[in-house]
Amino acid sequence: MYDALRGRYRFACPTQGRTSVALSAFRRLDRLPGSSHPAAYRVTFACPCGGEHAGLVSHDELDWAPLGLSAGTFVNLMTSRVGDAGAELGDLAASRIQAGEWPWSLFCFPEGRPRPVFPSAFWLLAGGPRGSVGLAVRCPSCARVSVNLVSAPHVDVPFHNDREVGVLEFVLGADLEAIVDEFRTELYSSGFDARRMSIGETG
Ligand SMILES: [Zn+2]
Ligand SMILES: [Zn+2]
Repeated sequence: MYDALRGRYRFACPTQGRTSVALSAFRRLDRLPGSSHPAAYRVTFACPCGGEHAGLVSHDELDWAPLGLSAGTFVNLMTSRVGDAGAELGDLAASRIQAGEWPWSLFCFPEGRPRPVFPSAFWLLAGGPRGSVGLAVRCPSCARVSVNLVSAPHVDVPFHNDREVGVLEFVLGADLEAIVDEFRTELYSSGFDARRMSIGETG
């Protein structure tokens, strides 16, 4: 499902058969009710064929696979031994997190500060102005939804955190389905303000 070498998720496409997309091509994530062990998410993604399709992703694939935790086996060319790439990459990710770096981050507007997040906290994504990605995220700390404008690598590359992100300067309404429409409209509004992200920086 997750292709660790290419950093993409593989899905079925009704017209092309198979396809693969980066996390930033996801458009909506909904946790399936009653699927706690393991949790599963229904995702909608923008396919290279031009359509939007639905697929299923497990919690592990969302949050841990991009960190290399299910990369499988590899051949070590120096020793010609077969190793477990998943374990080694996972250790590296774990040590970076312990050193205070975060694989993904959000600027929480209600709290007025950056917060670490995992992709399972992402809710809505859409293409924004000038190649940016609009991201509506449920903050794991305060449970409210903030909208950030970020670069694609901020979403797709673990530990790549934009130094500055656009933050929509109001809290979207309480009607969840109304937010979906409001979200895409607001991405092209002038309601964004640049905020510095201090996650992962020293000092
Ligand atoms: Zn397709
Ligand atoms: Zn928050």
